[in-house]
Amino acid sequence: METHIAAVNSIKAYEQAATLLQDGQLVAFPTETVYGLGAIATNAKAVAAIFEAKGRPSDNPLIVHIGTKQAVEQYCTNVSTLAKQCMASFWPGPLTLVMQAKPNTLATNVTAGLSTVGVRMPDHPVALQLLQTVNAPVAAPSANRSGKPSPTRASHVYDDLVGRIPLILDGGRTGIGLESTVLDVTQHPPVILRPGGVTKEMLEQVIGEVKEAKLTDAPEAPRAPGMKYTHYAPNAPVYLIEESTEKITAALTELAHERVALIAPASCTVQAPIRISLGESADIAVNLYDALRECDKTDATIILVTATTTEGVGTAIMNRLEKAAGGRWYKTTV
Ligand code: AMP
Ligand code: MG
Repeated sequence: METHIAAVNSIKAYEQAATLLQDGQLVAFPTETVYGLGAIATNAKAVAAIFEAKGRPSDNPLIVHIGTKQAVEQYCTNVSTLAKQCMASFWPGPLTLVMQAKPNTLATNVTAGLSTVGVRMPDHPVALQLLQTVNAPVAAPSANRSGKPSPTRASHVYDDLVGRIPLILDGGRTGIGLESTVLDVTQHPPVILRPGGVTKEMLEQVIGEVKEAKLTDAPEAPRAPGMKYTHYAPNAPVYLIEESTEKITAALTELAHERVALIAPASCTVQAPIRISLGESADIAVNLYDALRECDKTDATIILVTATTTEGVGTAIMNRLEKAAGGRWYKTTV
């Protein structure tokens, strides 16, 4: 299959994308978080093609994207006042709400057979225009091969899925660079299953107490089934390290026999065999997946990545880094 990358400056691109989707095919498109790989969420065969193209385990459910807030009522039951408050405050935006699925509306493989469904309304002009043109719910996980870092550019999607999908809508770089916050509003108090751009503090201002699912809940009892899988991982092993000149220098000395790639913010002045910048501290989320993907273009044999604060969106950044590193920290002798 040939994979086309289409610019989104004409209505034709959206019509072509909508036609492909209605025909049961897959289209990658930008959202404000990362690029998504879309299929019509009521078409089980099309949804199955997402799992196939990504190499995604079939027990890891997909997020359903909708173009209006009202569409929620078509696919969910028992939509609580609290859920409605979340929608009013954060939609369109990077917040996925896990709610009771309305039986016999969506394809069962979208939810991996669960009785709940994750739904969100994205805040990106291309995603919204596509959803309006196709006029159907679109199941869309991140448009990467399963286990790899999520794509923040059309070229990342192409690198991972060339030959596997017919079309990528190119909307440039994505704004947030991390996936949506996943909030389970079927539990009381609601539980953040995956941290993201909408932080715990932001949620608590609107709905009061919110709990966080611990990374260590996986793999025994993963509530967001995605929690138990390797994620965001470049080819070489990743280790977290404190952002301390002394520690990083010591690690580089100890690892002199390796090709070390050091991923760190611009403020870190330590030289390394391969140095990949995360930019200014405010831009780490935007640059993170680009940096992890950059490693695969080098001959790095080991990757050191500096830990960041766990304040605000730092929680989401550290969540992704912990997963990319499989929980490993580089231990220096100093
Ligand atoms: P991705 O599609 O790669 O952005 O991943 C979607 C995330 O949302 C995964 O971690 C899923 O496990 C989680 N998710 C989607 N639907 C549900 C659901 N019904 N219940 C719990 N978690 C969900
Ligand atoms: Mg993903």
